[in-house]
Amino acid sequence: MKASPFGVEQDNLFMQKALHQARRAAQLGEVPIGAVIVDVHGVVLARGYNNVEHKKLQTAHAEVTAVERACKRQGDWRLDGCWIYVTLEPCIMCMGLIMLSRCAGIVYGAPSPLFGCGLDSINLPLYRRGSLCVVSGVAADESAELLKQFFKERRMSVIPKRSENGTKI
Ligand SMILES: [Zn+2]
Repeated sequence: MKASPFGVEQDNLFMQKALHQARRAAQLGEVPIGAVIVDVHGVVLARGYNNVEHKKLQTAHAEVTAVERACKRQGDWRLDGCWIYVTLEPCIMCMGLIMLSRCAGIVYGAPSPLFGCGLDSINLPLYRRGSLCVVSGVAADESAELLKQFFKERRMSVIPKRSENGTKI
């Protein structure tokens, strides 16, 4: 699919909101990944950003936080008709959650070759079995650049640790 039912312009707009969440994560020293969920009318229901380091928990992904908040707001675990916008291709955990939550579709930015669930390749038919619609590559460069910049800055800030007597450890 080239766009969600909301259209290309709205997809870009929602992705900008997800990127805003990703920047919030970066400011907190978290890997910059953000997500927003919109309902069937295109109203933003929930936002989330990656918070794994602070929570010291791998379930604190942007998508999980957004789904939790959307379900709380809807008062239902079913997110029928909702679309999730996420800056990076989801991992398999998040993809499972998105499908089980009955989202209508997903729009993502950059591909994630290392931890992505394979949405752009072999696994797509599996995810479509649940009639999930997939739109890829929305603001992909912006999303990838944000991640690249984050890791570049993090590498530069790594100073060798020293023990109390001054020797490198
Ligand atoms: Zn995930």
